[in-house]
Order: sequence, then structure tokens, then C-alpha cells
Amino acid sequence: MTSPPPPAPPVRPWVLLDRDGTLNREVEYLARPEQLDLLPGVGEALRRLQALGCRLIVVTNQSGIARGYFTSDDLAAIHDRLRHLLADEGVTLDGLFHCPHGPADACRCRKPGIGMFEQAVAALEESPTVRFMVGDRQSDLQFGRNIEARTILLRTGYGASQTAEAESRADLVCDDLLAASVWIASALAETL
Ligand SMILES: [Mg+2]
Ligand SMILES: [Zn+2]
Repeated sequence: MTSPPPPAPPVRPWVLLDRDGTLNREVEYLARPEQLDLLPGVGEALRRLQALGCRLIVVTNQSGIARGYFTSDDLAAIHDRLRHLLADEGVTLDGLFHCPHGPADACRCRKPGIGMFEQAVAALEESPTVRFMVGDRQSDLQFGRNIEARTILLRTGYGASQTAEAESRADLVCDDLLAASVWIASALAETL
């Protein structure tokens, strides 16, 4: 007797997250690990999303590398600190992708280009239909639309200075990641 194959595990929703001004305090061209601090409520927000079964994937434009402000090694140290601070909050990222290029490089991975999403799909070997993108800038919202995600604009970071027109193009505008996580939870409850 052959037993039937086990059912495929359900594909988990993806929450794609900008880094600067979304997870950590916005610092112009953050170049050293000690400059990175989590914003209030970020640990709790990500714990909630994780408990809901979401995959947490960071996608961050880091043109400071192309501009010569810091190196790939510096960025690796910064991301080590980010992972440590999140681990202290009980949070593990499923992916952390960066674009090292500048605007003139015309690469595929600089948001709003979708290259980092494609990298994540390849790395995680799945492509979920339920996607959210959370960030503080227009390029985050456009990236989210380009990958057919629901888009959330935070008022943290640069989000405080976005125009009403920009805000009108997000599916949700809210004060911080904690508020976003509450909205995502209710959106998921409606989806399931
Ligand atoms: Mg940002
Ligand atoms: Zn790039």
C-alpha cells in the first residue's frame, strides 16, 4: 500500500518590509552598526505577524554602497546588528535583500524595480498570492504595486513628509508598524 502524499503546506503570506524609517530610525545613509536602533513597537509588530504565519522579508535600497559612503562589509555588520536586535525581540527574518546600486546604474533591484522580490522568490522557492509591502516612501508604494501587493505607508521616517496625493495611493496610511500589523491581521482574517 502506498500512502497518499502529504498535503502541500499552505503558502504563507509575505510581508515585505522596507528597512530605514520602517524598522529602524531613519538616518541619512546609515553607515555604522551603532547607528541602527529599532523604532518603538517594531518588535511587537513583527512578533504578531510572525505568529500569524507571515514570512518577514526586508527589501532595502542601499545606494550608499554605490556612492562610496560605506562598503558591503559595513552593510553586513549593520545587518548582523539588525538580526541581533530582532532576535532579542523573538523575531527571525525570512529574508533580507539589499540593492547596492545607485539611480544611475539602472539596475533591476533598486526599488521600485522588482528585482529584490524576484530574488526572494528564488531564495524561498515560493511565490505567495497574499503579499503586503510596508514602507515610508513613494518608491516603497510603487514597488508594492509593481508586485501586486497591498501597500501600507507609515508616517515614520520619510512617511511624515509624504504628500496627500502619495498617501491616497496607498491601501493604508498609518502611524507605525504596530498599527500596520493590526491592519494586516484583520486583512488576513478576511482572506482566510
Ligand atoms: Mg525607508
Ligand atoms: Zn540594484
